[in-house]
Amino acid sequence: MEVRRKVGQQGAAGPAAAAPRQPRVQAGDALPLPIRHTNLIFSALFAASLAYLMRRWREKIRSSTPLHAVGLAEMLAIFGLIASLIYLLSFFGIAFVQSIVSSSDEDEDFLGVGAGAPPPAAAPPARQAPAPCTLLGSPAAAPEKMPEEDEEIVAAVVAGKIPSYVLETRLGDCRRAAGIRREAVRRITGREIEGLPLDGFDYASILGQCCELPVGYVQLPVGIAGPLLLDGQRYYVPMATTEGCLVASTNRGCKAIAESGGATSVVLRDGMTRAPVARLPTARRAADVRAFLEDPDNFETLSMVFNRSSRFARLQGVQCAMAGRNLYMRFTCSTGDAMGMNMISKGVQNVLDFLQDDFPDMDVISISGNFCSDKKPAAVNWIEGRGKSVVCEAVIKEEVVKKVLKTDVQSLVELNMIKNLAGSAIAGALGGFNAHASNIVTAIFIATGQDPAQNVESSHCITMLESINDGKDLHISVTMPSIEVGTVGGGTQLASQSACLDLLGVKGANRDSPGSNARLLATVVAGGVLAGELSLLSALAAGQLVKSHMKYNRSSKDMTKIVP
Ligand code: ADP
Repeated sequence: MEVRRKVGQQGAAGPAAAAPRQPRVQAGDALPLPIRHTNLIFSALFAASLAYLMRRWREKIRSSTPLHAVGLAEMLAIFGLIASLIYLLSFFGIAFVQSIVSSSDEDEDFLGVGAGAPPPAAAPPARQAPAPCTLLGSPAAAPEKMPEEDEEIVAAVVAGKIPSYVLETRLGDCRRAAGIRREAVRRITGREIEGLPLDGFDYASILGQCCELPVGYVQLPVGIAGPLLLDGQRYYVPMATTEGCLVASTNRGCKAIAESGGATSVVLRDGMTRAPVARLPTARRAADVRAFLEDPDNFETLSMVFNRSSRFARLQGVQCAMAGRNLYMRFTCSTGDAMGMNMISKGVQNVLDFLQDDFPDMDVISISGNFCSDKKPAAVNWIEGRGKSVVCEAVIKEEVVKKVLKTDVQSLVELNMIKNLAGSAIAGALGGFNAHASNIVTAIFIATGQDPAQNVESSHCITMLESINDGKDLHISVTMPSIEVGTVGGGTQLASQSACLDLLGVKGANRDSPGSNARLLATVVAGGVLAGELSLLSALAAGQLVKSHMKYNRSSKDMTKIVP
């Protein structure tokens, strides 16, 4: 197989080529041509043989010639038909069986048996009898027999005789476990935690998925900004925040957008990334692996290996970087409606196992080598994108700028240039060419069950303002290259968060077009940011900011008096 031969050729380029090989036996290895070409040849052979035989048999039936009287050409055609049938059945049949096997593996994860995989958004598992949670530690650490009374268990936890992390597993009742742990914490610390509610939360829904060792939950208010008129649809955007002014201000931005005819958005890219790091004996050898991964001829093989772990993960590409003999391999893949970190990690692990056979001297240091780059500011996300790359734009009419935003187009354009562009350049900003994108991103993330730590790269945004139509109207856009959102998995399946997703019409998996719900959510995030930028910049241009903050955050409780 060409892929294999290429590895050999690249390996022979330097002294490291002497590294030992353990060729893995695969059906494809026997083929002299790339799999794509071989498939094409056998499909053509199958079609041609079948067509020829059908024509010959029709002629024989018409002329009453016995069917079994076959000439050399027919014998060759029959041979071609059988050979191509065997090839095609074994190739596609095996792939089909593999896909069934891998999707059933995935479903197991989905039921929460595996480490951290979430239940399906459309059909949450019954909560009455929580499954044992391996994440909470081994029940063997606790005494054989648990005391019956809560008071005795609390005393045992306080005395260190029962580890707090086994309570859910041993009691089989998540609410009771949380209550006992909370009482133990209260006694150990001597702090009353009355303000932190215990009741009113489904602790089974977080078991093994969202949070360990629970003792209660934090309440956050959710406000609604909207309608946000985006791509012809009206969205009521849920925002969980404790920052006064934020929802009201975003709401004002939504109003300005709606009164100007709405905003439009475009999703430029949709691909989650994961970049493992591996060390090779030499930089030259690391370059061999890099060349193998980036060779377009190998893409088909790599994607077959990668895609095995999920029905939704589809490899889009691999981009490599090196630091000495360390190789960083940034895999990008689509992940359906999931944000996708679990999904992509499984696919990457498949490829690393596959590579290990051809490069046994490759030492995988970590499944994540920070070139991904997750939850840290990094130029790679800003430049290459991660998750969904979205641009959202609107034209705000002159009269709306005056009436709703209480400022004028020229002041806004100048402010954006001096603050968001020049000011951020002076500050050495990385993806921070905006006024407060992270405010809106984080509030929507918390409300809709996203991973709030991913607000770091999801808030990368450049806000552009221009005057158009002879300086009368305002063109505003936000360009956000790495919005990382999902509508299945993680916190999205919890009751409150999934209600907020439902409000936006993007709850769970999109069965008809996997990935559409998550992409739509990303455009709503960008639309919310557009509204937020518009309103805050206007408040700054009009010198209103401090005034309205004083009203919202300090004095008045009468909300009717503080509309910006
Ligand atoms: P994350 O990595 O974002 O935490 P996971 O990969 O753990 O998400 O969860 C996604 C799970 O949801 C997978 O088990 C996948 O099979 C399942 N799933 C069902 N429908 C979809 C869909 N439309 N898109 C993506 N995943 C889906």
